[in-house]
Amino acid sequence: DPTGEPEGTLVRTNDNYAPDAEKSDRIDATLLALVRNEEVDAMVMSMRDLERTWNNKFNYPWTFFNDKPFTKEFIQKTSAATKAKCNYELIPNEHWDTPSWIDPQLYEESTKILQKNGVQYAQMISYHKMCRWNSGLFYKHPALKDTRYYWRVEPNVHFFCDVDYDVFRYMHDNNKTYGFTINLYDDPKTLPSLWPETVKFLADHPDYLNDNNAIKWVTDETRRPSHNKAAQGFSTCHFWSNFEVADMEFWRSQPYEDYFNHLDRAGGFFYERWGDAPVHSIALGLFEDSSKVHWFRDIGYQHIPFFNCPNSPKCRGCVTGRLTDGEAFLHREDCRPNWFEFAGMG
Ligand code: GDP
Ligand code: MN
Repeated sequence: DPTGEPEGTLVRTNDNYAPDAEKSDRIDATLLALVRNEEVDAMVMSMRDLERTWNNKFNYPWTFFNDKPFTKEFIQKTSAATKAKCNYELIPNEHWDTPSWIDPQLYEESTKILQKNGVQYAQMISYHKMCRWNSGLFYKHPALKDTRYYWRVEPNVHFFCDVDYDVFRYMHDNNKTYGFTINLYDDPKTLPSLWPETVKFLADHPDYLNDNNAIKWVTDETRRPSHNKAAQGFSTCHFWSNFEVADMEFWRSQPYEDYFNHLDRAGGFFYERWGDAPVHSIALGLFEDSSKVHWFRDIGYQHIPFFNCPNSPKCRGCVTGRLTDGEAFLHREDCRPNWFEFAGMG
C-alpha cells in the first residue's frame, strides 16, 4: 500500500463524527496537550496541521493541561482552531509540585554538575516536573477519568499527511497499546541510574516481564556500545514521546504503577533528568507485548529536529527517506532499525 496505511482500516468519516453527534462513532479518546499560555501561537500551528490532515474528519475533543490557569487569549485562540470540543484543565499541585522526599540541596548540587556537563534543561525545575508528570501523572487527572486513549500533541509540531481513518479506532480494534512515529537514542548523561533502578525493580517483580518483551531492544549494546555503557546497560533507545498515541490502561496497570512509584522514590526525575520518553519506552519494552506497539509509518510528523516522512501521495511539505534536515551527525540518532530488528512486528 503506497500510503502506508495499516491494512483493513476503513474510511469511516460520517455524520456520527460530527462534533456534537448524539450517537458518536468516536472512541473514548482525546487529543492531549500540556502547554504554557505563552505558547498559544505555536499550539495553534500544531492544531491547524492536525485538524487539516486528520481531526476535521473525526472531531476528537482537545484537552489542554497547564500548571497555571489558561488565559482568555489561550482559550479563544485554541478553540477557534477546531470545530471539536475543547477542555481546559488545571493540574492539581499534588501532581506538579516537587515531591516532599526530594532534597532541594541535593537537587541543586546534582543538577549543577549535569548542567556543567551539557545536559539540556538540567537546572530548569519546571522541565523536571514536566517529565515526571508526563511519566506517571497525566493519566490520573480527574478530567481523564472516563478517557482511555490519547494522542499527545506539542506546540510547534507538524503533520504532513492526510490520514483518512479513525486512528483511535485502529488502536482499539487492533488491540494496540502504543503508537509512535520516531525512535531515537537518548543522551546517557540524563539517565545514568535509570537502568540500574529498573534492574532493581525487576528483581523484585520478575513476574512483570512480558513473555513477548522487547528487552533486546532496551539493552542492545551492539550498535552504540558507548551509549549502553554510559547508561549502565540501557541502549537509550526510546519512542520519541512528543508524539504518542496510547492506551492509558497500560499506564494505569499495576506493573506500570509500581514501576513509576519505584522510579519516583529513587529521585532520578530530579537528581538526574530522566525523560518521560525513556521511562515510557523501558516500561513498554519490558512489561508489554511488543506486538502491541505500532509504528505509524503513515503519519507524517515533525518535532524539530527530526521527522517521519512517508513516501506517499497523501503527504506534502516534507522530504522522504531522511530523519532530519539538520546536521549530518543527527542521522546517527535514529534507533528505528534496532526496533525493527529486535521487536517491531507490530
Ligand atoms: P522539549 O521538546 O524536550 O524541548 O520540551 P518542550 O519545551 O517542548 O516541553 C514539552 C512539552 O511540555 C510541551 O508541550 C510544552 O508546552 C510543555 N511544557 C514544558 N514545561 C512546561 C511547564 O512548565 N508548564 C506547562 N504548562 N507546560 C510545559
Ligand atoms: Mn517539544
